[in-house]
Amino acid sequence: MARAAIYPGSFDPLTNGHLAIIQRGLHVFDRLVVAVANNPEKAPLFTSAERKTLIAEAVGHDPRVEVDAFDGLMVDYARVKGIHTILRGLRAASDFEYEFQLANMNRKLDPEFESVFVMTGEDYFFVSARLVREVAHFGGDVSAFVPPNVLAGLKRKLGKR
Ligand code: ADP
Repeated sequence: MARAAIYPGSFDPLTNGHLAIIQRGLHVFDRLVVAVANNPEKAPLFTSAERKTLIAEAVGHDPRVEVDAFDGLMVDYARVKGIHTILRGLRAASDFEYEFQLANMNRKLDPEFESVFVMTGEDYFFVSARLVREVAHFGGDVSAFVPPNVLAGLKRKLGKR
């Protein structure tokens, strides 16, 4: 049976760190659903439709990767998809506490649920979407941290302000 996982996140915007987790996830899973969490309270820089497009462009055509968006609880979305495994990336120890809480909360909400973690490499452990947004906002060069289409998207978005 094909093994599938959901890789959920804000992806506001997609970074090279996210892309590395997708690539490495595909060594473990046959199929990945990259799922953009639509949390209106977070006031994102990119709309969820824009974030989906940026991910699809950066991943390119790969039949193993589906890009989707969801509202509400991750476990509810996973049930609808019929996939009970999620993929998450771990950077520094600071990610651990939150991810540990999240994984346990999700398992309480759905006992079938399992979380699988991939540890980031030395190249991306310091890259977060939030930092990319902040650095780009103040005109810093983020070209080493995001794919070219995201860089162009950031310039369009921030140039308009
Ligand atoms: P961020 O934390 O960068 O704002 P998300 O909320 O979209 O990003 O994160 C989605 C998932 O991707 C989380 O599991 C997060 O730990 C992981 N992730 C984000 N950036 C990286 C990175 N540079 N290396 C490894 N995992 C990452």
